[in-house]
Amino acid sequence: MKILEKAIEILKENYICDSCVGRQFAELLSGLTNKERGKIVRHYIAFLIDSGEKIAVDSSNFYGMKFRNVKIRPKKPEKCKICKNFFFERINGLAKLVAEKLSGYEFDSFLIGTIVSSDLIRGEEKVWSEAGIEFVEPIKNEINRELGKRVEKITCKSFGLKSPDITAIVNLETNHIQLQIRSLYIYGKYQKLVRGIPQTKWICKACGGKGCIACEGEGKLYKTSVQEIMEKPLIKTVKARRSKFHGAGREDVDARCLGKRPFVIELVNPRKRKINLKKIQAWINKSKKIKVYGLKIAQKRAIQELKFSHYDKTYLAQVTFAKKIDKKKLKLLKTLRGVTIKQKTPMRVVRRRSNRVRKRKVNKISAKLIGEKKIQLKIQGEAGLYIKELIVGDEGRTEPNIAGILDNKVKSIKLDVIKIHVS
Ligand SMILES: [Zn+2]
Ligand SMILES: [Zn+2]
Repeated sequence: MKILEKAIEILKENYICDSCVGRQFAELLSGLTNKERGKIVRHYIAFLIDSGEKIAVDSSNFYGMKFRNVKIRPKKPEKCKICKNFFFERINGLAKLVAEKLSGYEFDSFLIGTIVSSDLIRGEEKVWSEAGIEFVEPIKNEINRELGKRVEKITCKSFGLKSPDITAIVNLETNHIQLQIRSLYIYGKYQKLVRGIPQTKWICKACGGKGCIACEGEGKLYKTSVQEIMEKPLIKTVKARRSKFHGAGREDVDARCLGKRPFVIELVNPRKRKINLKKIQAWINKSKKIKVYGLKIAQKRAIQELKFSHYDKTYLAQVTFAKKIDKKKLKLLKTLRGVTIKQKTPMRVVRRRSNRVRKRKVNKISAKLIGEKKIQLKIQGEAGLYIKELIVGDEGRTEPNIAGILDNKVKSIKLDVIKIHVS
């Protein structure tokens, strides 16, 4: 269909506004808005009519134009058949609503998404079926863009970046605006200075967090955690709904982590984004239980990088045995240096993980007698080495193991991660 035929087809039966006419030619010429394109097309047809050509279009499409040569009195148009006058009656009000909704949040960039109402889609599809879809742009795209431009003007924030701080989804059927807020990600390293607290909040399985007899009404199994100590000032400052914690591995609840472990804490639905992390770091570090270092704003991909990072670790373990330690056998521990340990999935986690054999190396090991039945071990292990099982043997599931070499039974272990070898 030629351009002119197409234009006549569009204007044939009903009044169609400039934006909706122009959108049918959106892929022709850049540097014009659809409104401008529509105006050009309308005027061109009006020229033809004024020159005496007989063109069958709805005259209300030329309301307000002054013809010199032909006697036409265009009647006042009804609403645009496609957009129902969206682009000049509704859009500004809607832009204001979006801006108002955004005003409760601190952000630099935003994006608009629209759920187009069914009557708009019907109007658009009718024109497409009659005039074809060559050169067209969907109405949704234009609404997103035009709404975005207006909101940009009101808020002075930038519209249309790749990962915007906020995406506003506007439902044109219900006028409801839903905001999708990008999480705020903060990277840092932490030390856990005490035993007995987990890395993340440990929700009570029996009640799912509501509080029950098993958890003494707390909804969780431990009073606090690394995550909870950290999130407190953060959630308060950025007014987030909650936090998610992503660590580069985790130490056991009863182990300290004196080495600095990388983490990302994700703050969900933050109202503020510009925060003084030095101040927050100082606030967190008033805690006697944990310390944090080098807090900085990160991107979401930092979480993936943590998950894929595997760091060797050095542990310090005070191990108490059942009987007196044989010094000759103690010397044999050195032979574990450079040895690959075969570990069936530990009994304590076998219910959660599949049962397989893991092979990890002991890079370095040294042992010191600190009591008749007590030694101090310093072990540097490859990432993923189950350290407790290496010491205890896990009923033969880990071979070789330290209890086996010493021919002695482990009574207790006090474990510290003293270095995480972040290369
Ligand atoms: Zn329209
Ligand atoms: Zn419970």
